[in-house]
Amino acid sequence: MLGFEFDIAAIFVCFSLWIILFSSRILPIKQNLLYRWMLILTTVSSASAIGSHFLYRMPSMNHGILFIILCFLNYAAFNLITCVYVKFIVASAKSKMDRNLIEKVIFTVPGVIVLICVPFLVYFKVWVFTAETLHDVLWDYILYVVAVFNMLFGLFYTISKHDFFGRRIVTVVCVYTVVIFMIVAVNLIMKLMLLNFGVSLGLIFIFMTLQDPNVMRDTRSNSFNSKGFDLISKEWLSTKKSFGIIGVHIKNMSFINDKYGIEIGNKVVEQIAPLSRIIIPNSYIFHLRGTSFAVIAEKISEGKVRDFVDTLSNKVKIRGMNIPIDVVACLMEYPKVFHDEKQLTDLVEFMMDGAYHAQKSRIIFATQEHLKKIQYDNDVLVAVKQAVQDSSYQVFYQPIMNVQTGEFETAEALARLIAPDLGFIPPDVFIQKAERSGDIVRIGEIILEKVCKMICSNKIENLGVKNVKINLSVIQCLQRGMADRVIRIIDAHEIDHELINFEITESIADNSDSIFIENVSKLKDAGFKFALDDYGTGYSNMTRMISFHFDVLKLDKSIVWMAENNSDALISMKGTVDIADRLKMAVLAEGVETEAQAKILKESGVKFFQGFLYSKPLSEYDFIEFLKNKRNVMTV
Ligand code: C2E
Ligand code: CA
Ligand code: CA
Repeated sequence: MLGFEFDIAAIFVCFSLWIILFSSRILPIKQNLLYRWMLILTTVSSASAIGSHFLYRMPSMNHGILFIILCFLNYAAFNLITCVYVKFIVASAKSKMDRNLIEKVIFTVPGVIVLICVPFLVYFKVWVFTAETLHDVLWDYILYVVAVFNMLFGLFYTISKHDFFGRRIVTVVCVYTVVIFMIVAVNLIMKLMLLNFGVSLGLIFIFMTLQDPNVMRDTRSNSFNSKGFDLISKEWLSTKKSFGIIGVHIKNMSFINDKYGIEIGNKVVEQIAPLSRIIIPNSYIFHLRGTSFAVIAEKISEGKVRDFVDTLSNKVKIRGMNIPIDVVACLMEYPKVFHDEKQLTDLVEFMMDGAYHAQKSRIIFATQEHLKKIQYDNDVLVAVKQAVQDSSYQVFYQPIMNVQTGEFETAEALARLIAPDLGFIPPDVFIQKAERSGDIVRIGEIILEKVCKMICSNKIENLGVKNVKINLSVIQCLQRGMADRVIRIIDAHEIDHELINFEITESIADNSDSIFIENVSKLKDAGFKFALDDYGTGYSNMTRMISFHFDVLKLDKSIVWMAENNSDALISMKGTVDIADRLKMAVLAEGVETEAQAKILKESGVKFFQGFLYSKPLSEYDFIEFLKNKRNVMTV
């Protein structure tokens, strides 16, 4: 018996853990640093235990300075492990330490007690040592109390945060605590030096749960994942040191996968992490989702972002092929632009989205203006929700003229939102927000209710209006039971179904979702007519247009405006009108602003005109007045 076999085993365990730690990149966050500290302390404690035992057996050395140092290191390192353990457990649950008084006491007092006790302990063990005192001096007991306190605190903290840690980790911490107490008992009763070994086994447990490197890693791209990004960005924010985040998006990933195959696509993703580390030293890269990445580093200049994007777009070579990568990026800097967690989260989402949709440049740099825009967007969302509660959306009506008769036979119902603080909010802005938040479903119903009331109370048929066109959003069309609800509202007002038409945009018409098809078919079967809105803005799918059979085709204003100055656009527009004619669809042009446009459109065979040339969208009162005054007056 050597007496320190278990310490040798502990050293082996520690070295194995060191090798694993060094072979993988670890995020420099507090939790990981504290784990390293526990490993360092266990290694030092085990090594010094072996050393001191060894020297103790050599009579000439056993009271020398080296022996005393080793004894000190052994007791100090070992007893500090549980103090670091407490911090580690707390750091695992929090990215930001509150540092309130209780936490300060819990983090410092046990450590101070250890450092005060250890010299006395060493003094007793080395000089006043007898066979009995080896395990039983007072200082030993104080240190046991500290260790028990720390272990129990770690246990109760983990249990109290069980929602965060999850059952697996709570179980491991419970088992680990019990095992450590048993080892201490064995240590006391059988005088076996098991403690370092027990702790090192504990470190393996922790490595497999709380410190599991895969929790923060993204194996596909050999980088970290969004959880890692959340942790490091929040922690760097709390330490107040400046840093930058580059958001990166590969726009043509599905093209690469389709054209070159998934294997090459995966290789492209794998190359991003090493390239980013070369271009931006000491950076960490995160695979956020799909084809979005984030790079985080203490110093990122605008030039580096340009280098990064240029390198990714030009230099990715796989199997001798230059793969064309369409990269867009954005740069966000702390504290230059954002200042807290909320701003960071909002800004990352906003800028990534912005970079993806940016038309002119491939890189956008976050500024205060972006934060203001985010604030405005958040305020808009609040206003959208408030207006849903108050049913305060208004409906404006834009008259639409039948070119042949000159009569305003129809009109488009357009939602208006005037918020108390923000004033008029453009429909494009609030509709998009409401679509994302799901509020559009209620808004759609509010608008429909109001249109129905307007139709009933003004008897618009008598004013020559054959129908009112209502916009349906894709989100509404994807709601199960939407058609039934719409029909119920209209029937409750006893309105003839011919009096209401629906507009859906080209992009939704391309939807093959079964709920969408069910809703639209029900509405069509119930006798409602449909217009295809925004024709010409997206990818025009003629086949679907034919199979769906729209009654009206609405040329988007951009097409109308382009046809005025561009002969090719005019030819293409005439072609569209011709096809629509043959498919028995009436063509409606929106955005008619000038007499010249009206002339061209009329010559091209467009049947209906909507635009500022005739009228802007009007309030209900103005709309009715307009109809009364303008009937039979307008001609082109
Ligand atoms: P949209 O369906 O394409 O509506 C036509 C838009 O063109 C309206 O903008 C209208 O005011 C504008 N417009 C009409 N004639 C002219 C013109 O001669 N010149 C110019 N510059 N613009 C003209 P608005 O009211 O701002 O609405 C924007 C978009 O918001 C709508 O585009 C529609 O997509 C959406 N929207 C509006 N109300 C509703 C609604 O009740 N439900 C849904 N789902 N979307 C709505
Ligand atoms: Ca429309
Ligand atoms: Ca439109």
